Amino acid sequence: MFDAPAPGPMFRSLAVASALTLLSSCADAPAQNPASAPLSQVSQPVANPTATPAPPRAALPALSFSAWRDGFRREALAQGIDAATFDHAFAGVTPDPSVINADRSQPEFTRPVWEYLEGAISPYRVRKGQALMAEHAATLDAIEQRFGVDRETLVAIWGMESSFGQFMGDKSVIRSLATLAYEGRRPEFAHAQLLAALQILQHGDIQPGSMLGSWAGAMGQTQFIPTTYNSHAVDFDGDGRRDIWNSSADALASAAHYLRASGWRNGRPASLQVQLPQGFDYAHADAEIRKSVAQWQAMGVEVGPQGAGLTHESASLLLPAGHRGPAFLVLDNFRAILKYNNSSSYALAVSVLGQRFDGGGQIAGSWPRDERPLSRSERVELQESLAAAGYDPGSPDGIIGANTRKAIRGYQQRLGWPADGHPNQDLLERLRKGR
Ligand code: CA
Repeated sequence: MFDAPAPGPMFRSLAVASALTLLSSCADAPAQNPASAPLSQVSQPVANPTATPAPPRAALPALSFSAWRDGFRREALAQGIDAATFDHAFAGVTPDPSVINADRSQPEFTRPVWEYLEGAISPYRVRKGQALMAEHAATLDAIEQRFGVDRETLVAIWGMESSFGQFMGDKSVIRSLATLAYEGRRPEFAHAQLLAALQILQHGDIQPGSMLGSWAGAMGQTQFIPTTYNSHAVDFDGDGRRDIWNSSADALASAAHYLRASGWRNGRPASLQVQLPQGFDYAHADAEIRKSVAQWQAMGVEVGPQGAGLTHESASLLLPAGHRGPAFLVLDNFRAILKYNNSSSYALAVSVLGQRFDGGGQIAGSWPRDERPLSRSERVELQESLAAAGYDPGSPDGIIGANTRKAIRGYQQRLGWPADGHPNQDLLERLRKGR
């Protein structure tokens, strides 16, 4: 999805979702209010256009769309939305079948993390980001002054979210969210976003016809969902409107405001690439295990010169592709990026892309390119096999979260294998034989 220089935001959010299932040990404990496109986060990344057929469509809602809309209108008006605002927003709105298809698709194949990163940190994106940092230097100076978030991170997020504002989604946010609230998989969530979207319209920041976004309702250059917009969007250029669609100053400042509120600490990196010593116990690579950088160093982790001055910072060890691939210490700012989008590969891409803008961010070591990521059905089989072997990987949903990683580690330890919690074909083969 990043092979083309111009990924659309729907594909972006699917790509980002990959991280959840592929890498993130946070998948079992998603952030409460991720800023962008959380509706897509339960879905899988696409490695190619082939996907399993969508599951049988659930029974149609008991209400017709117009009856649902009328009930929702009463509720919206009770919540303070003007009748005129509501009726203008909903004029001609019907359910969008493409939104339901996107919501229900469960892509079978997952891109390897190294391919995801190579796409996210493409030479095109690095050059474009560098040019935009020069072009918007004065605005970025002012945003850094006000919010204490560095320009590299902001421009990296801008590139990841919308290819610097080039691809923001072209679907009506009201129509998409109304569709999802009416018959999506997470109707309560969509319902809350739809109310928030009406509040934005009522505030006068944007007109309904211009309120465009992804199928999941992520909007503008920052791909904010409506609740995040209402809590954190900023009018930075001073024209009286929070316009994250057309004003890059508003969009970048809004992202900075959100990161600041998510615990961003100025002047610190989000991630550091590290080298692990021989014989290292990979079971320490767990998002729930935090140690100071100095404690990791005492365990033999080589941080390199970029770790100078960071010895007291709290960090977790991330192995994006298991013990055979590169290792990273991830710091508090990594967790702030996860609040934006709860995916460790997304956060790593933002961090490394930001470093690339300054000429750094070269990833040393090699990826295990001979490994093919488990497909969705293989991940389900892995979870079922782990359960049959006496472990507790959680429900067999194909999502590799903290519980599944813990189960994998337990099984790896029983076999005497490196306990990195990383699912791969060898592990699945071993479980099949052990059955
Ligand atoms: Ca503005």
